[in-house]
Amino acid sequence: MCGIVGAISKNRNILPILITGLKNLEYRGYDSAGVAYLKNNKINIVKTSGKVSKLENKLNKSDESNIGIAHTRWATHGKATSVNAHPHRVNHITIVHNGIIENFKEIKEMLENNNYSFKSSTDTEVGCALLNYYYEKFKDVDKTIKAFMDKVMGSYAITMIIDSDLDNLYVLKKESPLVIGISDNTNIVASDIRAILKYTNKYYILDDFEYAKISSNEVIIKSIKGEILNKELHTLDLKDNDNSKGHYKHYMLKEIMEQKTTILKTVLPFIEEGIDSLMTLPDLTKYKEIFIVGCGTAYHAGLVAKYLFEEVTNTRCSVYLASEYRYQNNFLSKDTLTIFISQSGETADTIAALKLVKSKGYPTLGIINVENSTISYLVDTCLYTKAGSEIAVASTKAYTAQVALLSILVHSHGLRNKTISRDNTIEVIDEFKSIEKLITPLLNDKDTYLSIAKNIYKEEDIFYIGRGLDYYLSMEGALKLKEISYIHSESYAAGELKHGTISLIKKNTPVIASATNSNLNAKTISNLKEVLARGADIYLICDDNYKDDTFTIVNIPRASEFVKPILVIIPYQLIAYYTATLRGTDIDKPKNLAKSVTVE
Ligand code: GLU
Repeated sequence: MCGIVGAISKNRNILPILITGLKNLEYRGYDSAGVAYLKNNKINIVKTSGKVSKLENKLNKSDESNIGIAHTRWATHGKATSVNAHPHRVNHITIVHNGIIENFKEIKEMLENNNYSFKSSTDTEVGCALLNYYYEKFKDVDKTIKAFMDKVMGSYAITMIIDSDLDNLYVLKKESPLVIGISDNTNIVASDIRAILKYTNKYYILDDFEYAKISSNEVIIKSIKGEILNKELHTLDLKDNDNSKGHYKHYMLKEIMEQKTTILKTVLPFIEEGIDSLMTLPDLTKYKEIFIVGCGTAYHAGLVAKYLFEEVTNTRCSVYLASEYRYQNNFLSKDTLTIFISQSGETADTIAALKLVKSKGYPTLGIINVENSTISYLVDTCLYTKAGSEIAVASTKAYTAQVALLSILVHSHGLRNKTISRDNTIEVIDEFKSIEKLITPLLNDKDTYLSIAKNIYKEEDIFYIGRGLDYYLSMEGALKLKEISYIHSESYAAGELKHGTISLIKKNTPVIASATNSNLNAKTISNLKEVLARGADIYLICDDNYKDDTFTIVNIPRASEFVKPILVIIPYQLIAYYTATLRGTDIDKPKNLAKSVTVE
């Protein structure tokens, strides 16, 4: 998780680069922050709990430096205190670290036996001491880094300053992301190139077990064996990177509104020329079964695809949480395609699951939003969602882009395996082409969502229910609400409530449902009546002009099953958003969460 920035320059003050970079990376973790830089020939460290703005206020405004490293933390080992904040420093070595040193306990004991003592509770300080231990032993950076990589288990992106070598920054990487941005007489390291786009869009990507020596005008990247590597210099296309909030109060609202264009942008390459374009999507007919792996919102997008694969194209599909997938019997075979979904392409659990499938040599496909990310490199085939940068931690436009891309993928499969007719395909393509018209009235219906929000924002327990596809969508609805409002919200298959949960319904407990499947709606309505009889307040999203004075109803347009999930989710997103505004939470940066979850 966490954000790392490091900079070294011949002719400019790098402190603004570090602070701007950290602010851009705050979505990766924001429980504490710190910076280390050269001041009067010594390394000066400033750290604080809380956000980067607090760190900025602590900095001496007149300080300038030409080498420094900075960090915004998402604590894994030790509380979010300023002592535990990075950078950590042990004798000659100062580092910032993203990841987890899994064998830190054993290393700590070894170091304690060698007279090291520790101020913080972090695994990072242990890693820093280990680097110092090897550096004092070998007096050689290459040997130090090799010994460190051989010893440490777990994940790390580390940026390091060595006191006796202040003309260089060093970086080393395993599993956590790290890029090296190149600019005139200034080189900048970051967890994500987007953090430093103000300064450069040219960058190297470090792969696992690689490290680099970076001066103001040179980057030397080496393998663990110490061989110099000739790496590709990437250039990020800047046109998809509008990182401003515009006139919106929150990134989340801006991103919800951007769905007017991001959904079509994602699917357009595959529908532009009708069926011919659709047939450019990978052929899945050679697989007997599809597995989908993801976390959080991406997992929920996978469930929508499962519904479509199974109910529409008669193809078995299982969806797994990435964090569980590695540790279970997966029944993989060459007849199974595993699809990995991740907005950032850096989700640690998903990467770990992907590596497992790859190690057995089975086919993989990625659905990823960020180009040149780790997953996009590792999968056999990568399809990109075109949601653009998503800054708010709670995912909205990335989710609908994932759902849209998966829908089109399933659709192409149905056409190939003849469970879907060409006429149906033409209708669905037309629906996607007019998606903006379909969703704009839903996006603009603020009054309805705000009035629901006013009824529910003081509650502490809310239930989301549905059947079939609506059940999978209710999971995402409940997740959005809990992520940003901190209200306990749970989704249930509507028919399952009476097997226990209904005992939790009391007077005025909100129950939010969607019913958009004419075969199942009557049953869902009966379940709603059951909770109504026990005092619940009912909110129903539906598409068939159902009328009932005892429910609050949100109508959505009718659409095919391929587009319907997008229409249902918009009210869910906006109910969550307005409820959180009434509770006054930090919507774009909810407590304890981070955008790109790069630790397992
Ligand atoms: N494991 C380290 C810590 O808890 C780094 C966490 C992070 O990646 O922010 O300090």
